[in-house]
Amino acid sequence: MEEETNTSTLAHVLVFPFPIQGHINPMLQFSKRLASKGLKVTFIITHSLSKLLPPRSNSSPIQIRPISDGLKDDEKVDDYEAYLELFERVVPQSVAHLIEEYKVTNHPVKFIVYDCLMTWVLDLARTAEIEAAPYFTQSAAVHSIHYHVYERALKLPIEGSLISMPSIPLLRPNEMPSLIVNPGCYSSINCLNINQSSNFGKARLMFFNTIDKLESQVLDWMRSKQWPIKTIGPAIPSMYLDQRLEDDKEYGLNFFEPETDACLQWLDTKETSSVVYISMGSFAALGVEQMEEIAKGITQTGKYFLWVVRASEEAKLPPNFKNDVTRQGLVVNWCPQLAILAHRAIGCFVTHCGWNSTLEAISLGVPLVAMPQWTDQPTNAKYIADVWRIGVRLKVDDKGIVTRDEVDVCIREVMEGERSIGFKKNVMEWKKLAQEAMEEGGSSDRNIEEFVAELMHM
Ligand code: UDP
Repeated sequence: MEEETNTSTLAHVLVFPFPIQGHINPMLQFSKRLASKGLKVTFIITHSLSKLLPPRSNSSPIQIRPISDGLKDDEKVDDYEAYLELFERVVPQSVAHLIEEYKVTNHPVKFIVYDCLMTWVLDLARTAEIEAAPYFTQSAAVHSIHYHVYERALKLPIEGSLISMPSIPLLRPNEMPSLIVNPGCYSSINCLNINQSSNFGKARLMFFNTIDKLESQVLDWMRSKQWPIKTIGPAIPSMYLDQRLEDDKEYGLNFFEPETDACLQWLDTKETSSVVYISMGSFAALGVEQMEEIAKGITQTGKYFLWVVRASEEAKLPPNFKNDVTRQGLVVNWCPQLAILAHRAIGCFVTHCGWNSTLEAISLGVPLVAMPQWTDQPTNAKYIADVWRIGVRLKVDDKGIVTRDEVDVCIREVMEGERSIGFKKNVMEWKKLAQEAMEEGGSSDRNIEEFVAELMHM
């Protein structure tokens, strides 16, 4: 185990995300903020993921610490349900062992910030006599919906065409987190989501990757329950917000190789606000028919486009599409999304509405065309279209497909229609609030400061 004399007097905190890209990114960002305010931070990831990481410089303020998740060398995750079972069997022992290991060093662990999906960490930490707090990676609205299901205030199966919950707009079933409406699909993931609520009220702090003003109603309602909520978002690199952490331009742990130069050089040749950026994140997989409709729809708009199609999805593109469209579009397997959203050439973002992508678009002032796929995304799309009014949601047809005409019409509406000016104005206002939250003395910055101060005195 590494010993650095210069860090031996700092309060030591472990940060432990669930090992998927969309959870690692915001928790790593939070870790950077904690380190910048004087804590020693160790970031835990699984061995299987650590092998995919590029080499890191020794000067990084955060130590990465791999632990075993039970997967053998070179074993891949094909079945997520089986992986979750293995994870819950092996990882608690690995974490307990790690805490013990640090106990005999000159920087024992004082606190563990854990992904809200792993509720068991709270008990484990108490047994080890250290403090712990969950980090909630989705919107406050979505977490509160899960809470209503957990408490059985919202009964399953969902009935009726409009669902009413405190401090949340009335939601149609297709605006609810999808696994609540279809509990049979991915039942273990659904249980994990709902059971996150078992830590509400038990933990001494609850970190939310959101902004007070963005979700003020639902946060007020949660705080009225005396839950110790600390908003600390948007957890995106500092150079896109307050610019106080020098060189913090990227998340820093990519499980896919970004085609940075190809994307940025291509965008540099395009006019301001002329390009449509399309990405479905790190996980969502569309059907062949849906891919064809997007391909035909975006071509039909006549607009330039940059489309991220992960390598595993590429075979679903229409034959020769990539080569046939080179004058209009660029298809890549992965891109540096923040740098893309920050580029002046981007005019709108067709997104699956993952919570990180949503916060990133808000923080960089890019209007959205929402194409939610599953879990929390339909609820994020509702807020995008009807609460924050920063874009439109694509409608599906009777077969559940977004047609090429719908893609064409909605992209035009967000980029050039009458409403496009309103979307841009609104998203720029939210962008300002996102920046203010992370600036010195802003709501999220203050919450991080208070936590660090508390830890230093523990
Ligand atoms: N992302 C990226 N390059 C891409 C696509 C996505 O860097 O080509 C990043 C994006 O910036 C975000 C994360 O991957 O931080 C995706 O998280 P999100 O919550 O939006 O969706 P998920 O992948 O969890 O469904």
